Amino acid sequence: MSEPSVFTRILRGEIPSEIIAETENAFAIRDIAPQAPVHLLVIPKSERYRDVVELAAGDPALLAELVGLANSIAAEHADGDFRLIFNTGPGAGQTVFHVHAHVLGGGLSEGSLGG
Ligand code: 5GP
Repeated sequence: MSEPSVFTRILRGEIPSEIIAETENAFAIRDIAPQAPVHLLVIPKSERYRDVVELAAGDPALLAELVGLANSIAAEHADGDFRLIFNTGPGAGQTVFHVHAHVLGGGLSEGSLGG
């Protein structure tokens, strides 16, 4: 068995991080190194899926649950508008191989992709 991911350890309370919202199968935290005025992460409680491609193929309902959770936390923590980013693969900047979405909001510059 491989080591539990950092997000599993947060969910278990082994690494401190406030869980700001949760659904049956997913939870949300603040990113420790924010790249936008509001930078949250939405994460399945299971680390079964490494990235969004695996998640979409294996459990599309859970992917939809992540999008719904992103929408509700963006309404609560920003003005409701948000960018949803799934880094997929090391070359795209993925560092944690427990699928998660970055939810970016709050005063994002228009017209740029990177925030
Ligand atoms: P990735 O680079 O895989 O797309 O995103 C991983 C994200 O997890 C990064 O933005 C990083 O800042 C965040 N992160 C890594 N370790 C921790 C942690 O211990 N606590 C929190 N809240 N975020 C973390």
